[in-house]
Amino acid sequence: MQHLIQQFIDNQWIESRGQRRLSVMDPYRQTRIAELTAGDSADVDAAVQAARAALPGWQALGGVRRGAYLAAFADALEARRERLLRCASTNNGKTLAEAAIDLGDAIACYRYYAGQAKALEQRQGRRIEHDMAGIEARVFEDPAGVVGLITPWNFPLVTSAWKIAPALAAGCTVVFKPSEVTPLPEVVLAEIALEVGLPAGVLNLLNGDGDGIGAPLSAHPGVDKLSFTGSNAVGEKVMQAAANGVRGVSLELGGKSPILVLDDAEVESAADWVMAGIYFNSGQICSATSRLLVHESLAKPLYQALAERIDALTLGDPLVEGTDMGPMTSARQREAVERYLEIARAEGLVAVRDGRHRDLPDQGEFVAPTLYRDVPTSSRLWREEIFGPVLCARSVTSEAEAIELANDSPFGLAATVISGDNERARRVGRALRAGSIWFNSEQLVMPEASWGGFGISGIGRELGPWGLAGYLEVKHLIGPEG
Ligand code: NAD
Repeated sequence: MQHLIQQFIDNQWIESRGQRRLSVMDPYRQTRIAELTAGDSADVDAAVQAARAALPGWQALGGVRRGAYLAAFADALEARRERLLRCASTNNGKTLAEAAIDLGDAIACYRYYAGQAKALEQRQGRRIEHDMAGIEARVFEDPAGVVGLITPWNFPLVTSAWKIAPALAAGCTVVFKPSEVTPLPEVVLAEIALEVGLPAGVLNLLNGDGDGIGAPLSAHPGVDKLSFTGSNAVGEKVMQAAANGVRGVSLELGGKSPILVLDDAEVESAADWVMAGIYFNSGQICSATSRLLVHESLAKPLYQALAERIDALTLGDPLVEGTDMGPMTSARQREAVERYLEIARAEGLVAVRDGRHRDLPDQGEFVAPTLYRDVPTSSRLWREEIFGPVLCARSVTSEAEAIELANDSPFGLAATVISGDNERARRVGRALRAGSIWFNSEQLVMPEASWGGFGISGIGRELGPWGLAGYLEVKHLIGPEG
């Protein structure tokens, strides 16, 4: 068993001041695999101080040299591939194939921002076109400062890469708090920081929970900007904390994303896309397309095709090849999803497939892949993020009704359109209120494109140049030419 009771501060492992201890679990074997410190505000103080001291040197290093560190991070992750896949799979419950996709995303992100860091240096001080004679205006982009980064448990290494890579590229120094549920894959980032010789204090990693680290980090006056990925409930608290001292905040929160199957869709491939949008990572995806809106002419064959595919899913040990779906990442998350299944029973929802249609493995935090049909739009299952393998479906009579119902949600993270006609799918996609819209595809993520949501799904965008901009302050120098 690992003992993560130290904090990575100023390139050293230092005993946490926190006395509380947490258990890190393997959700398939239901065994305790590590002991973790819950952290303490004194750890946060020390890490913020180290990050502050490192800031001028890290900024002065320039984008080209910072980019070289990020490329080294990507290489170091690649070199640990086998170990990281097993570690993420064991700690998170995701299959090895899913863990491999995650690791590929994380590596691509570090590489992308290595390039962005260089490009940032090259454009520093560029002249701005304007009409004022005899005056020159130049623009610089400075780092936002010391940043506090807080991530959830569903995509360890990925959600952290989306913050750490652009923050370091921008010249910010970092205090990073991974989820207390999945700290094991993330702790390798500290190991890599030492291996690649990252200057001390540039990346500090604090283990702990919301009370021990998350809240004191959000409230710390020495943190210039906060970037949080997680639930809406905690995101609101982080935003309130950031208001104190008018500090910047970006939020990647929940979703209740729609998938629209239009009347010209081909049923079998539509069923494949629907499956990919909800049962990947056991449904624990912020962008899961968990509301299916299918044209009434296709509803019956589509439900049938989905039932066949759900029946064919193999649930089991995520480390074993051939497993399609692992357990939920924690007992807590399994219980949270089960509470929604209780509500569904109380509401009288009609299950095409649920726990009555299969035997679950005799160990692990499993929830059966579930599909409800004809779900009323007033149902809590239709409106709230479940964060599990539960798909709610209803049929619609027209494209206009599909668009209207798709947009009838306070969330706006993602959406998918399935149609036999790409042009029509693009047009419908443009009418949807969401940050990422896939057509005749699902859950495609690339570091060059943006990530983030409309409405209560968050504030700001990660990835692409927008992700970098979130860690930069724009500065103009204006005066006489010559
Ligand atoms: P969570 O909000 O419970 O926890 C997220 C992080 O916040 C954890 O590190 C946790 O320790 C920390 N935290 C808890 N209390 C805190 C506090 N008071 N102050 C500061 N930090 C605190 O979320 P979770 O259960 O880990 O993750 C699931 C949620 O994350 C879902 O709602 C999902 O939609 C969302 N999510 C969003 C995205 C996105 O890109 N939009 C990506 C992944 C997950």
